[in-house]
Amino acid sequence: MQSFLLTEMENKLNELKADHLQQIKRAQTLQELDDIFLKLFGKNGQITLVPKDFPSLPKEELKTIAPLFNQVKNNLEQAIKEQRSAVREKSYQKLNEEALDIQPVALQQRSGFIHPVIKIENEIIELFEKLGFFRFEAPQIDSDQYNFELLNIPAGHPARDLWDTLYIDSQKYGINPGQLLLRTHTSNAQVRVMEKVKPPFRAMIIDRCFRYENIDPRHEHTLEQFEVVLVEKGLSMANLQYLSEYFLKNIFGQDIKVRMRPKYYPFVEPGVGVDGECIFCYGKGCKICGEGWLELAGAGMIHPKVLKNGGINPQEFSGIAWGFGPERMAMLKYGLADIRIFNSGNLTELEKIK
Ligand SMILES: [Zn+2]
Repeated sequence: MQSFLLTEMENKLNELKADHLQQIKRAQTLQELDDIFLKLFGKNGQITLVPKDFPSLPKEELKTIAPLFNQVKNNLEQAIKEQRSAVREKSYQKLNEEALDIQPVALQQRSGFIHPVIKIENEIIELFEKLGFFRFEAPQIDSDQYNFELLNIPAGHPARDLWDTLYIDSQKYGINPGQLLLRTHTSNAQVRVMEKVKPPFRAMIIDRCFRYENIDPRHEHTLEQFEVVLVEKGLSMANLQYLSEYFLKNIFGQDIKVRMRPKYYPFVEPGVGVDGECIFCYGKGCKICGEGWLELAGAGMIHPKVLKNGGINPQEFSGIAWGFGPERMAMLKYGLADIRIFNSGNLTELEKIK
């Protein structure tokens, strides 16, 4: 007569086998099979735990249960293995049936193009080279001194409010806070060029500036500026008018009318805003210009103090500073409403600008 425990164990093994062979056959995914495997053969799996009771059996009965245990264990392991293969095979078959419908696609050849702002800048450079201007570069990170102080804009001067400045936190380099900044205009080149080049000279600066701006269709934090610094004997507002007309007629066409009106910039005296007759309505007045004129550039006779700061005798030489934002010029020339397109990196849209 066999022990109750042996009978119980035999029944249990047979049940485990029957139940799980069914489950294994029904499994459709590798995940399901992994779950069954863990349930049976994991650390606390139902098969794993069976031999725990072996020591409680008489030695004779152990000879009966051990082969049954091995057989059930092997059957289940084998069944899982086979079902895994079947599931894999099925998924491969499915992949085959879903064979991708690959049609030959004509690959579009894409050629590069020049950024619209660079394009207009290249035109501007060429125009001014013809008049004998050379390119000059000044640092984009500069001192308060060159960006403001030497341009007749001392600390506390209300004109500093015209520029929203990004200062460099430079304390860790032993530089006083507020001393280094991202230049707010290319005018930081004015005194630098005077220090480097003996007058008379005709310099042009075309480069990047930075403002602490709320970005909107008309404002960017990173923008280009073009500026000429012209120092010669006997310059006057007439030369300034000539430069303005020369430039605007070449960019917008010979029939554009140009006017100047007084405008305040601390580093020039007198200062002017240079307007061009609106190229959209030809002076009739429209929603872009308002009353028929567009402000296109800012300029003036360089302030005697600034010339002195650059080591130039204002009794002997006079200077003209004249500049504008190439992005704004490009917006007008190409009829664009949003300045943000230029730094957007959106090649599809940028390529359309012609
Ligand atoms: Zn207009």
